[in-house]
Amino acid sequence: MRVVNVWIEHPVMDLNRTFTYALKDGMNASRGVRVTVPLSGQFVTGFVDSVEENDLSLEEYSEKAGYEVRYVDKVIDEEPILNAELYELGLWMGHETVSPNIACFQSMLPSKMKPRSNRKASVQEYYVRLLDETKATSEKQKAAVEILKNGDVLRSELNKAFTGITAILEKKGIAEVYSKEKEAGYSELDIREADYELTEQQKAAIKKINESDKDVILLHGLTGSGKTEVYMQLAAQKCREGRQVLILVPEISLTPQMVSRMVNRFGHSIAIYHSKLNDQQRYEQYQLVRNHQVSIVVGTRSAVFMPFDNLGLIVLDEEHDHSYKQDSSPRYHCRDVAIHRAQHHHCKVVLGSATPTLESYARAIKNVYELVELKNRIHQNLPSSHLVDMQSEMRKGNYIISSVLEKEIRKRLDNHQQSILLLNRRGYTTIMKCRKCGKVIQCPHCDIAMSYHKDENKLKCHTCGTEMSADMVCPDCGSNNWLHQGLGTQRLYETIQEKFPEARILRMDADTTRKKNGHQEILEAFEKGEADILLGTQMIAKGLDYPNVTLVGIFNADALLGRTDYRSVEVTFDLIVQASGRSGRGHSAGEVYIQAYDTHHYGIRLAARQDYKSFFQYEMEYRHVGDYPPYKYLAAISFNSRNEEKAKTMAWQRADEFRKNEQFKTLGPSQLARSFDEYKYRIVLKGANRDQLIEAVWNWYDSIQFNKQQVKIQIDIDPYVLD
Ligand SMILES: [Zn+2]
Ligand SMILES: [Zn+2]
Repeated sequence: MRVVNVWIEHPVMDLNRTFTYALKDGMNASRGVRVTVPLSGQFVTGFVDSVEENDLSLEEYSEKAGYEVRYVDKVIDEEPILNAELYELGLWMGHETVSPNIACFQSMLPSKMKPRSNRKASVQEYYVRLLDETKATSEKQKAAVEILKNGDVLRSELNKAFTGITAILEKKGIAEVYSKEKEAGYSELDIREADYELTEQQKAAIKKINESDKDVILLHGLTGSGKTEVYMQLAAQKCREGRQVLILVPEISLTPQMVSRMVNRFGHSIAIYHSKLNDQQRYEQYQLVRNHQVSIVVGTRSAVFMPFDNLGLIVLDEEHDHSYKQDSSPRYHCRDVAIHRAQHHHCKVVLGSATPTLESYARAIKNVYELVELKNRIHQNLPSSHLVDMQSEMRKGNYIISSVLEKEIRKRLDNHQQSILLLNRRGYTTIMKCRKCGKVIQCPHCDIAMSYHKDENKLKCHTCGTEMSADMVCPDCGSNNWLHQGLGTQRLYETIQEKFPEARILRMDADTTRKKNGHQEILEAFEKGEADILLGTQMIAKGLDYPNVTLVGIFNADALLGRTDYRSVEVTFDLIVQASGRSGRGHSAGEVYIQAYDTHHYGIRLAARQDYKSFFQYEMEYRHVGDYPPYKYLAAISFNSRNEEKAKTMAWQRADEFRKNEQFKTLGPSQLARSFDEYKYRIVLKGANRDQLIEAVWNWYDSIQFNKQQVKIQIDIDPYVLD
């Protein structure tokens, strides 16, 4: 008898072990193939890990195992859906992120192919095949047979030519219908030559990347220094060698501009893969790679799992971007996965950024990565930046917009140039506060202030989505005298529109981009010059390249500095540098105005000067003193439950246990803001040895899988933020 060991998603427990099932005669399975198996009264889908042969009968095998071994219901795939490399990658990722292997396999596949039972099947096409031409009697049937003699035809096509013919042919035994998975359109390799003459600086960078003996290259280039062109030329090189290329970009910077630039260069050889595609589209892009119909993939985080078998290059653009870290299980970092895959394929990884993470830059300085720099912009010098002290502006009565920034916007309107106004994240909500007693309206399910949306006169929770009417009296004192505090994009929009009634302003934030293509429509309108001012949240800080933009204004630049998170200064620095980079990319010089309350903070000052190296040195000292990455490794474990006592007790017990281990430091538990009605406690482990940390977390995790009670456990190795 043959048995298979199968990874399955258990409905109740996060088990990281395989279950054994017997194969019926005639069933073929191998590692990486999906099967349907019975489990607690239902059928579930799983991945085959291994196949074993033995001389026992099912009864004998069950007796030896000590439980009733059941039969596999169905083998889904003829060929492994995950090849050997991807299968190993899933196991590796499970270990690295301390998560069940099945969760890793699931996140590696487009949802149409994920091993769940309730998904819709991929699109099937129906073809007609000739069986016996002699049975055809009428002229119509004979004409159809003539067509089928040349090969199988789509049923819909045949019926279009001869209405209702297929049913007749089938009934008479002339032909039969069969189904086949729909394939995405085939395309030829289509590389066009480089459009741009490279600068000396770019040529030198490409040479250094090609000649380096390091596996990972950090391309540190100023905004506007032509990194994208370097990526594209490297990609073209690799394609000519017959190898595949993966270009990863953050969700936010996969703008229509970026996509059209890539498509213009690489024509049909390129697949685009991102989260806005629907299930079928993602599936088709995946199949294009699997069937070698494209050589280059440009995509966001999950594109790192595409089924390449001959990768020649991986690029991770804007490597510092937080969207590369998945924020649900498995909490992997795309960069780590990219580097792991590149080792398998013996190819290089290029990490590009104007503001690399401290981790990456530290590795480059220590010569673990090769450091390649682009120190000059292509067209212009860097925009000139000005810090605006909002403390003194407020004394002059300017609460939202400083007089100098107002003057500069006016100048751009007069000169028919464009401006981008960026409102920093934390400042972008307006809260509702009682003027009488000071009560702030909070979400009933989360300990977070609700945001006031004036256009709908509603309060909304940005965490769980709860909405309520803003027509209310204060629950504490009964007053209905409300103060709307804080600067939201909507309020900023109104203020700017009041000051410049003739200006055409586009607003881009979570509200205006919710509908499909909302994002794209706004940017296209701005690019065509249909607006003078683009105003928005951090989603407009990156990747945009509009030559007519000569002014960038940043509001609440220091709003993030008050956070407790260890990365808050780095994130602030990145945001200012990236946003500033949108100004003066064409032939006119650009300017940047940075409004802040604390203009002396090193993060703000150095960002205004675009001085990454000094920032790196300052910030590394703080990280060193605080024992934070890149000096130490972190693991965060959260205990979440609607029952506060259970979450708290479990967190404390665990923290006390971890504290006995002297290989690392255990901090907490600390209580986090309640959200979705769940109470949250978190402990943080800090250690110099990452493998030890992971091992300690695994040892504990293996031991608790059977008695989880009502506490949800979230494990995050190398948490990107700890806010
Ligand atoms: Zn009140
Ligand atoms: Zn809420």
